[in-house]
This record gives sequence, structure tokens and C-alpha cells, in this order.
Amino acid sequence: MECLKCYNDMFIDYIVFNIERIDYDLDIKKLPAYVCSACNETYIEEEEMKKIFETIKELDKRIEKLKLRK
Ligand SMILES: [Zn+2]
Repeated sequence: MECLKCYNDMFIDYIVFNIERIDYDLDIKKLPAYVCSACNETYIEEEEMKKIFETIKELDKRIEKLKLRK
């Protein structure tokens, strides 16, 4: 795969992916992604993004249940 910014080669590596939500922060510490060998640009595949959004959706639901009931 080619980097979208500098057109150098990209390699699959694990990256740290951080998502900040209103009630929690999520750090995915070993997300497979393409990383550029020259400019460190990262590219996450659609399949992985889909899984991340499914995880957040599920977490949102569960965290809502954790909150204090008023
Ligand atoms: Zn690059």
C-alpha cells in the first residue's frame, strides 16, 4: 500500500488509537493499521473502523447503565 500523503510504502503495524467520548476515553493499544515508512501517516482499514464503531456503540450502552439513576 502507498501513503496517501508522500507516496512511500506503508507497512502493517500496531498503533495506539485513542477515542474521547463524553463519559470515557478509550485507548486501543494494539490496533492493526498501515503506517508510512517515511512520514508516519497511519491508515486504518474500513473493516477495523467498523469494529471500532461497533465497540463504541456497545460501550456507550453499557456505560449508560453504569451511571447513577436520578
Ligand atoms: Zn507518507
